[in-house]
Amino acid sequence: MTYSDNENTRVWLITGASSGLGYEFTKKALESGDKVVAIARNIEKLNELKSQFEGRLLPLRLDVTNRSAVFSAVETAITHFGKLDIVINNAGNMVLGMIEEFSEDEVRSQMETNYYGAVWVCQAVLPHLRTQGSGHIIQISSIGGLITGPMSGVYSASKFALEGFSEALAQEAAHFGIKVSIIEPGGYWTNLYLKMGLTAQKKEYDLLREELAKQNSTKSADSDPKLAAEAMMKLVNSDNPPLRLILGSLVYDLAIDHTEKRISTWKEWEAVSRSAEFAIPAPEGYGSMEE
Ligand code: NDP
Repeated sequence: MTYSDNENTRVWLITGASSGLGYEFTKKALESGDKVVAIARNIEKLNELKSQFEGRLLPLRLDVTNRSAVFSAVETAITHFGKLDIVINNAGNMVLGMIEEFSEDEVRSQMETNYYGAVWVCQAVLPHLRTQGSGHIIQISSIGGLITGPMSGVYSASKFALEGFSEALAQEAAHFGIKVSIIEPGGYWTNLYLKMGLTAQKKEYDLLREELAKQNSTKSADSDPKLAAEAMMKLVNSDNPPLRLILGSLVYDLAIDHTEKRISTWKEWEAVSRSAEFAIPAPEGYGSMEE
């Protein structure tokens, strides 16, 4: 299938495009007539799309944890398609376990891909988007980037980190006409769970693990990734995309409930919060805080 090029053809760069959500985002963008730079460590899975959408898909083999390789890949993408309009930081992995059980490598692997990988991609694309004065950076976080629980602490830490830097980035980038959105999906049937790592279990946590297993419903609450791709199209086609977008009804309710509880606890402790502030002059050596 070939499409004619026009000035409205957008160029997407999607990391983690070989599988799951990233693959569906890639397919959807191509079907809409756009072009895609599709990034993954294994790009063979993109061969079929490459021949189906001739000239519109540039698969690039890249490990997003390698900062200099990320910069080279972005240069290759710009040279090939001339610009980037939509950048989706989607590559990710998951290791579950109790905090005490994690090895150093397991903790670092979460941060390397889910957090640092996204930072490197943003740093590499920003000079181009700034020069264009446009662009939309989309960070695939998780409901785990808002709420966490037993066994998800390290995965959530990587997503909380992603959300923290993205919130600051959104304010910096807005200055140059660049939009930033953070997506918080619920459950989708992808390879994430098939490939996820599990820590070596400490027997002291067996009872807690049993309790958690009892709480977990056996009924599937996960969805087809195609639905996430449809929501993604609505987001990128919006003139006023939100900073945060939750994907999924179950996690939408969880996020609202969690946020209401957080606000209620803040209010309950308001007097203590306020009692901990009484501005005094800056200690010597701090310089004046007033310009
Ligand atoms: P998949 O495992 O199906 O896809 C992950 C993708 O990331 C693959 O294409 C993989 O390709 C790529 N990837 C992993 N590590 C790297 C790396 N270092 N460099 C480049 N590419 C990499 O999982 P999902 O589609 O589910 O995950 C996509 C994102 O969605 C993740 O960030 C995940 O945290 C998030 N998410 C998923 C949810 C779900 O229910 N599925 C829920 C909430 C969030 P390759 O191995 O070829 O490099």
